[in-house]
Amino acid sequence: MTLAQQWRDARPPAAGVHLDSAACSRQSVAALEAAAQHARHEAEVGGYVAAVAAAPVLDAGRAATQALIGMADSEVFFTTGSNNALDMLLSDWAGDRVIACLTGEYGPNLAIMARHGFEIRELPVDGFGRLDLDAVGAALSNDPPALVHLTMLGSHSGVVQPARELAGACRSQGLPLIIDAAQGFAHLDCTGIGADAIYSSSRKWSAGPRGVGVLATRPGLLSEDTQARIAHAETSVANHVGFSVAIGEHIAAGPANIQARLREVGAQTRRALADVAGWHVRENVDEPSAITTLTPPDGVDAAAVRADLIVQHGILTTFIGIERAPKEMTRPALRVSPHVDLTDDDLALLVDALVAVTRV
Ligand SMILES: *Cc1c(COP(=O)(O)O)cnc(C)c1O
Repeated sequence: MTLAQQWRDARPPAAGVHLDSAACSRQSVAALEAAAQHARHEAEVGGYVAAVAAAPVLDAGRAATQALIGMADSEVFFTTGSNNALDMLLSDWAGDRVIACLTGEYGPNLAIMARHGFEIRELPVDGFGRLDLDAVGAALSNDPPALVHLTMLGSHSGVVQPARELAGACRSQGLPLIIDAAQGFAHLDCTGIGADAIYSSSRKWSAGPRGVGVLATRPGLLSEDTQARIAHAETSVANHVGFSVAIGEHIAAGPANIQARLREVGAQTRRALADVAGWHVRENVDEPSAITTLTPPDGVDAAAVRADLIVQHGILTTFIGIERAPKEMTRPALRVSPHVDLTDDDLALLVDALVAVTRV
């Protein structure tokens, strides 16, 4: 059976065409049922007793996370999402409040950095918004930040950032590196990057429940205080169980298989959309991710297009306002982010629908 067929068979039937995995993927029946079963168990034996019984599943989820990021000795914490992880990391930071990141940094991350009083240093990028490896070493050493933050794959663009190379540059200058893998986890190869902390969200490419995320750190990065606060915080154990099952399924399917198929999906999508009149695909066809962003023709409102695609054609895409990457984006975009089960028919429907709803 193909990976696509296996993925589709593991899920409830889709109403419409889902091309928005970068926002929220479809959960499997196994993940949905595991979470529901845990909630039921809470009602039977009590929430705190059920949590003890679920400990092995949650440990398996932490171990799967360690395997996916290749940090066997990392400390893994469940969070409520990616922003929650960054918020905890920065509030815990005891050093100078100067942080380096890319021009295309995710807007809500910039807001969290600002809220914690961080001054921002921009790292050099090329015309695609990709880190300029020829210039980064000098940028880091001329005016060293206290901390480096990299969003390895953005929300506003399918351009994959050279995370390993940046980690090498940070290591040679003794700078700690935090990686936002909200779009990278369970999508790109995240093993052995060499970061001090990596965080992600459950609902995106790993297809777990909403309202959950994961943070892995080098041992001892977070203070005892913060670790205690995380340990005592009220959490949705049922959703942690669902997420643990989802990443277990991801590992069973073979992360390398999924990564290869998602690269193919990205190229397939960009090829199909290349000729839609007036729309511009921003990534190179073979950019190794499954995120495609389209700039609309002049005078076309991408938010209205996204809404019309849902209401008139049952096709889910994502509207990307410039607040997603306020220092890089100059115009809104439409994001198409299918998962491994994408078909040529899905793309044909999208292309026809996009032509139909594009009103200049
Ligand atoms: C979605 C996203 C986030 C925020 O994730 P939450 O789980 O909603 O907090 C952060 N960074 C990037 C790149 C994202 O795509």
